[in-house]
Amino acid sequence: MIKLHDKFFKPYLKEEQILNAIAKMAKDIAKDYKDEVPLFVGVLNGAFMFVSDFLKAYQHPCEVSFVRLSSYQGLTSTGIVETLLDVPEEMEGKSVIILEDVVDTGRTLKQLVHLFSNTNVKEFKIAALFYKSEVYNGEYPIDYIGLDIPDNFIVGYGLDYNELGRNLREVYQLNQANMINLVLFGKPGAGKGTQAGFLKEKYNLKHISTGDVFRYNIQNGTDLGMLAKSYIDRGDLVPDAVTIDMLKDEVEKNPDAAGFIFDGFPRTAAQAEALDNFLESKNMRVDATIALEADDDILVARLLERGKVSGRSDDQDESKIRNRFDEYNEKTAPLKAYYQKQGKFHSVNGIGDIDEITTRLSQVIESLD
Ligand code: AMP
Repeated sequence: MIKLHDKFFKPYLKEEQILNAIAKMAKDIAKDYKDEVPLFVGVLNGAFMFVSDFLKAYQHPCEVSFVRLSSYQGLTSTGIVETLLDVPEEMEGKSVIILEDVVDTGRTLKQLVHLFSNTNVKEFKIAALFYKSEVYNGEYPIDYIGLDIPDNFIVGYGLDYNELGRNLREVYQLNQANMINLVLFGKPGAGKGTQAGFLKEKYNLKHISTGDVFRYNIQNGTDLGMLAKSYIDRGDLVPDAVTIDMLKDEVEKNPDAAGFIFDGFPRTAAQAEALDNFLESKNMRVDATIALEADDDILVARLLERGKVSGRSDDQDESKIRNRFDEYNEKTAPLKAYYQKQGKFHSVNGIGDIDEITTRLSQVIESLD
């Protein structure tokens, strides 16, 4: 394992595997182009090692040039692709073969195709050393592929994490185990907030309770608070669009978190899907959803007790509490199947001493890989 800036990376591809893939690409391209003089265009910065090793493997007449583009910042693609070094001049009638280190979503490719669209090249081909077929948008054909790899953040062999790691001879993958994202699932009163308080300390996680964020906004009289108040007072769910945006903001506020405990979110199918998509866009994921199970009557009694102390209006009236359970049964309970399908659903008995329940939750968390 190596550390670059604040993150850990584990070995993924050996130098030999990379060089073998490149040798194969050189052979395939030679088959098509050895009788002419193609122009290889490397995409900087990431492709410099690939271009060098590729040319050593391609021993036929050819020219070489570079363009320079950039779309990554940290671990995520910014979506904005800047052209820092433009296409070479004098390309008329040439067969251009782009040498790209990694193709993932395809945004950089779009910019490349655009760059070459005004030139009179004879042919325009794309060769990608690493290709993430899972996420590629498929807009342009990739003509030569070195290795099809999963959608994990990689460094080494020219690729960087915030400029570090380009000089590594092998490719390393972000060690996801460093980040644990948990969804705590369960009816109101199941103990999610209490348990999250312990788990966040134990595993160094950031706790996000959507209920707490709403209450904070209500207390501070914000627009969001005013909007949410009427729903919360009735024990209804706040609309998805509002809740999802708020959740995203809370995650964005914590770029350095080692992981998150989502407490009270997601509560609907739309929220669960939005969370998956949002985390994926940040190269993150939900690792586990853990449900705290308890009987309704026990929960009603707990909530009424809590209401006496906390003053929460939605905890003081049994009909509002029952309405929250109805909302849960109707909109939230189906998420169990959603997470089961992903193999991420775990159930824990939520009745017992608080520390006993923390132990049960910890056993699940420590069994995750
Ligand atoms: P909680 O503190 O988690 O019990 O949440 C209190 C109330 O805040 C809920 O009854 C809802 O009105 C609102 N709320 C909290 N989280 C969500 C969510 N994910 N979606 C919609 N409404 C929510």
